[in-house]
Amino acid sequence: MVGGVNDCVFCRIAVGQAPATKVYEDDTLCAFLDIRPIARGHTLVIPKRHASELEDLDAELGAHIFRAGHRLALALRRSDLAADGANLVLNDGTAAFQTVPHVHLHVIPRRHGDKLSFAAGLLLRRPHDPESTAAAIRAGISALAHEDETSAEERE
Ligand code: 5GP
Ligand code: ZN
Repeated sequence: MVGGVNDCVFCRIAVGQAPATKVYEDDTLCAFLDIRPIARGHTLVIPKRHASELEDLDAELGAHIFRAGHRLALALRRSDLAADGANLVLNDGTAAFQTVPHVHLHVIPRRHGDKLSFAAGLLLRRPHDPESTAAAIRAGISALAHEDETSAEERE
């Protein structure tokens, strides 16, 4: 089956047939740790339904993926990873160095003064402890949701 679950590692991750450390998912997307992270907390957001490139991706789903990336960037700031910022990157097509042909948005945490460790991370792509990293990100997501609830209550 060309382009189906069996051929695509990210499709297999989406349905739980291949291992990945997931930090978030809903009906249409999931987010999991990059296996060769540039920095601790480097996460990928993917549509659950296969789309090789932006050309194949539903625009609403694309917006939803960016929204999730946006929230992850905020969650990373609130997590123990204590990010000061993030790089959100989507390599679209082999011309743009896309290596896995299933659309994915990179969310890479950044800190002030991390220039050297970031450059080293780009070269080494060494994994960090996935369980503690994912737990930190999930805690950041919960902290963000709590903030949202509190500000909604204050508006009432
Ligand atoms: P691209 O260059 O296509 O934008 O990035 C692909 C990313 O997917 C790379 O950062 C690479 O480390 C990551 N990746 C490739 N295969 C796997 C995998 O099987 N599991 C996970 N979690 N990440 C992967
Ligand atoms: Zn796929």
